[in-house]
Amino acid sequence: GSMTERSEPLVMVVDDDPTIRLLCEQSLEPAGFNVSTLPDGAKALQALPELQPDIILLDVQLPGIDGFSVCQEIRARKSTKDIPIVMITGNDDTESINRAYDLGATDFIRKPIGWTLLPHRIRYLLRAKAAFTDLKRAERKTQALLQTIPDAMLSIDSNGVIREFVSGDVRYSDSPGEYAGRPLEAFFPPVAAKKVREYMHIALAKRGVQVYEHELDGGKRHCETRLIAQDENCVLAIVRDITDRRESEAEIHKLAFYDNVTGLSNRAYLQQRIIESIKVARRREQKFAILYFDLDGFKDINDGLGHHAGDKLLQAIGERLQKVLREMDFAASLGGDEFCVLIEDIADDYAAARVATKCLKAIAEPIVIANRNLQPRASVGITLFPQHGQDYESLLQTAESAMYAAKNAGKHRYAFYTPDLTIAAERRMTLEHDLSRSIQLGEFELHYQPQVALDSGRLVGVEALVRWRHPERGLVPPNEFIQVAERIGLIEELGEWVLRTACQQAVEWHESGLPPFRVAVNISGLHFRDGKIVDAVREVLEETGLEPARLEVEITESAVQTTKQILDTFIILKELGVTIAIDDFGTGYSCLASLKQLPIDCLKVDRAFIHNLLDDPDYSVIVATIIAMGRAMRLNVVAEGVETLEQIQYLTALGCNVVQGYFFSKPVLAKQIPQLAASNFLPKSPQGSVVSLPKV
Ligand code: C2E
Ligand code: CA
Ligand code: CA
Repeated sequence: GSMTERSEPLVMVVDDDPTIRLLCEQSLEPAGFNVSTLPDGAKALQALPELQPDIILLDVQLPGIDGFSVCQEIRARKSTKDIPIVMITGNDDTESINRAYDLGATDFIRKPIGWTLLPHRIRYLLRAKAAFTDLKRAERKTQALLQTIPDAMLSIDSNGVIREFVSGDVRYSDSPGEYAGRPLEAFFPPVAAKKVREYMHIALAKRGVQVYEHELDGGKRHCETRLIAQDENCVLAIVRDITDRRESEAEIHKLAFYDNVTGLSNRAYLQQRIIESIKVARRREQKFAILYFDLDGFKDINDGLGHHAGDKLLQAIGERLQKVLREMDFAASLGGDEFCVLIEDIADDYAAARVATKCLKAIAEPIVIANRNLQPRASVGITLFPQHGQDYESLLQTAESAMYAAKNAGKHRYAFYTPDLTIAAERRMTLEHDLSRSIQLGEFELHYQPQVALDSGRLVGVEALVRWRHPERGLVPPNEFIQVAERIGLIEELGEWVLRTACQQAVEWHESGLPPFRVAVNISGLHFRDGKIVDAVREVLEETGLEPARLEVEITESAVQTTKQILDTFIILKELGVTIAIDDFGTGYSCLASLKQLPIDCLKVDRAFIHNLLDDPDYSVIVATIIAMGRAMRLNVVAEGVETLEQIQYLTALGCNVVQGYFFSKPVLAKQIPQLAASNFLPKSPQGSVVSLPKV
């Protein structure tokens, strides 16, 4: 045979007996083997490198070097160590057989040799060897493959003991160490180990993949551990260092979601946020606003002072916007000189206008860029969810078109998508502005509305109702400014002014000799709740000398809660000697029983109930109940907003004792009260007596 390109396996036979060598050739060659025979060990070892046989038949007893030594030498050489060696021994030579195996023999054949079976035997051994080689190669391949994977791989049993370990790039400690046979805590850092144990059990129970991510080095590195059940009580844990991935994700996020000039969020991010806000606002039934800013005359700056100056200005605007906004609001650069602001959970439509005004003011602060003193200006479009748009596209589109409306209206201003809102908001803003100076300017005045006793037809009290005499708008009713005054922190000052003016007026009426009647003053819930009302009442009573019982304070039902603070306020007011009325009664759903705890004198039935008294049986039942209950508690019951004789008749039948409303008199100026105080309000029948009122 030759060592090159042979298709038939080469069998090397080493035996000093020429008969055996011959018989080997004669039995193996016809069976498809090449046979190379050698008479002793020295020659065999010498020929080996060149022959490279596939298998060796080796006699134990050889002249010179014996078979054992030859076997040992073959195994010792790197190039031949895997060649199968079949030792030929004498019959029953068990000792030799054991020794041969110890030295690395693959198999043995006893003499006399069974020649017919020899080829089969050899073929079988070669096949086994080939299979073994394949296996070895596969194993080496797997090993090599595992070495190239950066992940650490651990096979962990259900007790948390690491069964197998393949280290990857993941390094929890500097020494890789030998982990097999040790608890998983040997490999995983403490926090992660706890979680891995948890997830391991889930993976075993559910048979799914569990993924757990954790930080290392105080967040500088990120690792991800995947746990997969291998069988009932073993999981495979694959631990991967994902620091790079996280970093590039963050980088991509930055590139994808932030504007590189201003550092604000970009349009894509804004879109995400708006879509999210729509969902939240729908669920919570909230409103939100989008402000669309476009700088006025930015092109001139860019062209005149250069791009660099333009960018600087945009950066400054971005910073200014963020300074003005609340944490929860969201500012974005839309590219060019456009900005967008998302204002979540707005209380009313004006809130958006208020923010827009603040932003415009901040934007307009002078700034020096490229040695020029600039005063930036912008136009803002305001759109509201859900009124003006229900999805991202329509919201942005309406905001943009509102922005053009602001530009057309003269720039450096805001405009809502719907013009009537712009007008209303402007009115409201100037109102706020004007209101803050109106007390000093003495623009408030009080009107008084008579309260009439139904049994006598006489005026028994008046309610003081405030009005604002605005230099341009004329007489502004309280509904248009009380809430505004509450919000801008003016209500206490206003309340004290009303209290003082009404009490002074009452003293004046009394001193002019009119029959005694009460003056009722409305107290804002805000003023009442903070307890400051007590000092105000005490002071004003002292100052004016009004008999306390002549003053009635009205507090609206919805502002009454049975907290300790409110209860105390009621009690102190009562001790001061003033009377207390619950206003707008029936609208606040207060528990009737809880009223008993309060030292009150009067219930005022809300106008809405009286208005519907004769048309809606539900209302008449409520009014009847309130009157009955009020009387049972020995309270005065005043019906408000009485406009017709029928209402008066009905209320009389229900046992109501005092009535206030247009039927008798609208609120009037103080100077008209003396005349009303002297008159009888009840209509006279042709006979001159009070009209008879039918029983209901
Ligand atoms: P209110 O306390 O319920 O006052 C009664 C309102 O009903 C008054 O409106 C009065 O003009 C109106 N009114 C009286 N009779 C009739 C009637 O027959 N028909 C109709 N349709 N309306 C009638 P006004 O003066 O506009 O006051 C509105 C609200 O403003 C008051 O409701 C009160 O809550 C508040 N308010 C008025 N003055 C003051 C004040 O000095 N301080 C505070 N905190 N609130 C005030
Ligand atoms: Ca009132
Ligand atoms: Ca009322």
